[in-house]
Amino acid sequence: MQYSKNISVNGLNRLAAMILASSLGASSLTGCSSSTSGSVTDSDRKQLLIVSSEQVNQLSAKSYQDMLAQANAHHALDTDPAMLARLKGIANRIIPQTLMYRKDTAGWPWEVHILKTDELNAAAMPGGKIFFNTGIVERLKLTDDEIATIMGHEIAHAVREHTRERMSQEVAKQAGIGVISNTVGLSDTTVKAINMASHLGLDLPHDRKQESEADTLGLELMARGGYNPQAALTLWNKMQQASQGEPFKFLSNHPATADRITHIQAIIPEVMPLYVQAKQAEERQPTGQPNSTQALPGSIR
Ligand SMILES: [Zn+2]
Repeated sequence: MQYSKNISVNGLNRLAAMILASSLGASSLTGCSSSTSGSVTDSDRKQLLIVSSEQVNQLSAKSYQDMLAQANAHHALDTDPAMLARLKGIANRIIPQTLMYRKDTAGWPWEVHILKTDELNAAAMPGGKIFFNTGIVERLKLTDDEIATIMGHEIAHAVREHTRERMSQEVAKQAGIGVISNTVGLSDTTVKAINMASHLGLDLPHDRKQESEADTLGLELMARGGYNPQAALTLWNKMQQASQGEPFKFLSNHPATADRITHIQAIIPEVMPLYVQAKQAEERQPTGQPNSTQALPGSIR
């Protein structure tokens, strides 16, 4: 295929994106869309999403299964039934709230597991694969509301498909550079970009914009689930203190900076009405059941 030298950079990038989208098996080019809608805090930013959800979710499911298998081999998987039940209880109140933002989460294969290790870490991988290390719960003596803050934040990353967005950005960047410099053929570049995205996989850190968005949407999710968003402040203060003692994984990509805390303080008044509403609904229906009238999406295994 011959390209005119007059094709604009944007045109080339679009072409690369289209070819990548088909190479990556995306059913349609969703270059400029939002993975969610309906946020009361304006968290539905448009995203570059040229890598398919399926590919990202497959990669993450594989990583998750490998991680669980490794933990199991070391007798470190789900060793504390009480803590696991507690985490699942919190997840079962937050996950239904994701339906407010996208309907397909009802079909996600959500899972919650705990890994017995002192390392302070927790995450929700793309597609709803959640884990908490026992260390983060025990050593920081987390309350349910504080656990809900972490869970809300991590689930927000998943529903906003931040990993998919970062992988899409990397693929577009790699392909764009290759095409424009014309040092390698497009097909070679495409293959390299795909390989690179696969290697980056789940280790790709979220950027600051995504972090801030996960904080915001996470507060919405926890508030709707009936957890007090004020707990985000005590949580991040605990994080800040913990970071002084030792470097730990969660804080390496979630710095408890003054900026983060200021941002959270600004969002809390916006989500408080959702919390008040959730508590009122809970009082009307004191069954101990999730305080949502919506069906629970999926089931937490
Ligand atoms: Zn994060």
